[in-house]
Amino acid sequence: MRLGVDLDDVIAICAVPYLRRFAQEYGVELPDEREIGWHLLREMDARVPPDERDRFRMKLYGGTFFSELDIYEDCPTVLERLVQRGHEIYFITARNERRRMVTETWLREKGILQHARAVHLKPHGEFRPDYPRGRYDPESSAVYKLGLAQELRLEAFCEDDVVIARTLAENGVRVLLFDQPWNRQVAHPRITRVAGWSAVGDLLLGGP
Ligand SMILES: [Mg+2]
Repeated sequence: MRLGVDLDDVIAICAVPYLRRFAQEYGVELPDEREIGWHLLREMDARVPPDERDRFRMKLYGGTFFSELDIYEDCPTVLERLVQRGHEIYFITARNERRRMVTETWLREKGILQHARAVHLKPHGEFRPDYPRGRYDPESSAVYKLGLAQELRLEAFCEDDVVIARTLAENGVRVLLFDQPWNRQVAHPRITRVAGWSAVGDLLLGGP
């Protein structure tokens, strides 16, 4: 099977450290770790204005944030077994192309770069100036990932984002949706919710 794999919040534990740093910076209270997620940022309009959120994100991403992220513990083993079984893995992230160096170095350090046929980052020039500032832009990322899924003839995609998962599913790509607090409302015949990498292994490799 040709499998697309998102990075942030599928391989990398991303939302929790991001929100923790955000909360620390602006003195915001966070819920229990299991409920921490990107959806919380939407509720902070009154507390932290969009321009300020932009500033925070750019500063964080320009620093060591991406190179310090942890990965889900069971990810490397499952990826390795998928490749051994003949599956083709493509890492596909909406991180900007200018994060390629930090991203590939980090994937190599985590010992999983070699499992991927290729690493795709979102090219320059995809920035949508009309999109509300300070917000994540899932629509253009969905277009980007669907385009790659079609070009690479992917049969399935590991993803956590609501808009991206729905776009892929509605266009014929099977989605393994990594369960996160911000995607609990999504349901579609082509979307299978998974608890994590062990569950992906069970599904695609047929049991532990
Ligand atoms: Mg993601």
